Amino acid sequence: MTDTVTGKYTTKDLFVWVWTEYIRQHWPWLAVAFLLMTIEGGALGALSYMVQPMFDQIFVGGDVDAIWHVGAVIVTIFVARAVAGVGQNWIMTRVALRTTAHLRRDMLGRLMQQDGAFHQDHPPGYLIQRVQGDVNAVNDVWRILLTGAGRDLFSLVALLAVAISVDWRWAMIMLIGVPLLFLPVTLLQRYVRLQAGVARDLGAALSTRLDEIFHGVVPIKLNSLESYQKMKFWTRQIAFNRAQLRASVGTATIPAMIDMLAGVGFVAVLAYGGSEIISGEKTLGQFMSFFTAIGIAFEPMRRLAAVLGNWQIAAAALERLKELMDKPIKLASPDSPAASPQDLPEVALKDVRLSYGDAEVLRGLSLTAQAGQTTALVGPSGAGKSTVFNILTRLVDPQEGGVTVNGTPVRDLDLVDLRQLFSVVTQDALLFDETLRENITLGREVEDATLQAALDAAHVSDFLPKLDHGLDTPVGPRGSALSGGQRQRVVIARALLRDTPILLLDEATSALDAHSEKTVQAALDKLAGGRTTLVIAHRLSTIRNADKIVVMDRGQAVDEGTHEELLAREGLYADLYRLQFKEGKDVVDRAGQAALSNQRPDVPAASPRLIDRLFGWLRA
Ligand code: ADP
Repeated sequence: MTDTVTGKYTTKDLFVWVWTEYIRQHWPWLAVAFLLMTIEGGALGALSYMVQPMFDQIFVGGDVDAIWHVGAVIVTIFVARAVAGVGQNWIMTRVALRTTAHLRRDMLGRLMQQDGAFHQDHPPGYLIQRVQGDVNAVNDVWRILLTGAGRDLFSLVALLAVAISVDWRWAMIMLIGVPLLFLPVTLLQRYVRLQAGVARDLGAALSTRLDEIFHGVVPIKLNSLESYQKMKFWTRQIAFNRAQLRASVGTATIPAMIDMLAGVGFVAVLAYGGSEIISGEKTLGQFMSFFTAIGIAFEPMRRLAAVLGNWQIAAAALERLKELMDKPIKLASPDSPAASPQDLPEVALKDVRLSYGDAEVLRGLSLTAQAGQTTALVGPSGAGKSTVFNILTRLVDPQEGGVTVNGTPVRDLDLVDLRQLFSVVTQDALLFDETLRENITLGREVEDATLQAALDAAHVSDFLPKLDHGLDTPVGPRGSALSGGQRQRVVIARALLRDTPILLLDEATSALDAHSEKTVQAALDKLAGGRTTLVIAHRLSTIRNADKIVVMDRGQAVDEGTHEELLAREGLYADLYRLQFKEGKDVVDRAGQAALSNQRPDVPAASPRLIDRLFGWLRA
């Protein structure tokens, strides 16, 4: 996780971003809310103003009739304040929720466009925390800002106007210390931003941890790692709490400083103003009105000061969100994409080089998969076979070389067009926590007959009757309610319906029991018919009939031909084949003994290094 970037964006950058992208569009609502806020805020000023006639006319002046006039005005003010308060709260909450919903939607869209390298750097737990947790943090604060700050600002202006109208000198005495707060408040804000940022990062680390724990719950149990994981989680949780607490205390300290200032101001005005009342220069009503206004004014002032801290908490979250949103998308569609190939396509790689950091994965790989034929990729684990699939579908771009579909470079095609050429069936059959039907149709309208044909061909029909609700049975998170073989058949049915011209099969039948393997293999054979098919073969038995077999080793194609040709050539393929099917156990045993006794094994054309690699392959 790379982005602890306190200070990358200024407060203004963040504010302008959220304002232009997410808030400005709601301006008519905001204008209405603004009006309601002036009413709500102004009501407090009006109330404190009414204290003067209350004292001077009723209590001191003894005017009984005035009770009704003054009372009626006060009731009206309260009702107006109540109605305006509810109205503006409703509008502003709505705007805040909309804003964050849009922000979430945009984040999700953007994050899904990012390539594999990005997702490797930013694991799922981390991204979930950003999209959910950080946007929530913004939402909470946003609501406080929107629902409280405007009203408080208007209250403050109205109340100060009343106080100044009674006696501007008293008001000055009361507020003389406010500028002194500037420096400590600025420092506190920085502190809050820093701590809130730390809390956001730790929050993301916690989510990543949880994601890993729950995905790895079986190995954790098998290795008795429960206490260890709990301890690691706890340490991070404590650090998170600490940062959260610091940010919270920092936020609370800002209004506390206003309180202290208020205390001193009150005493000063009491001393100065009290003598003016005793000497008869001012009425008791004036003094009470002033005190009421100032007394109430400190409350919105405190809240506004707290908003400064709260904004910093939001800014820390926004900063991280904007950083993610601003990450360039490396694998994007070209500006003017080429037309998608119409015929059954040939797929070709020419002198392709690809490295992850310093690790060279493909080192000048060239291969062609003829249109409508089945081409198998075989070779030791780590040879780069899956990487070929990732390059074709542009999950990753190679640094050098040409990757073409019917002569059109894949980079020139629109990403959606490109990916619509491929169906990929891999070992980890990806199912969503939806019904079987949704998993197969992927939300498209499919005619019953077409669907049935696909279900039959993929041998899904075989196990459908065993499910409680047939096609409408939920498959559980990641398809956990189905067996491995069933999941694969679902994915094959999906691919049949997609009916794409190119099929990429990462054969995984070796993980299945004999019966499932047979049905899955039968389904795969049907799927491959009439398409340009590339198969990563884990078991050589499944690719005997392939039109062409490309033998890969360390990022290069070292040989190619049919099964018979390759066998006759007595090269790496023949070794692999014999090892896997005929003399497998024998060869392995003899090689192992030879390694122990440091003798050259009696295995033709198989060097000790090759044997090592074969071991690796078998283990994989
Ligand atoms: P194969 O499918 O033949 O087993 P892969 O294409 O999966 O081989 O991987 C080839 C090599 O590339 C491996 O050494 C693997 O560790 C490395 N590799 C694959 N993906 C990544 C990645 N995202 N980041 C770093 N290295 C990777």
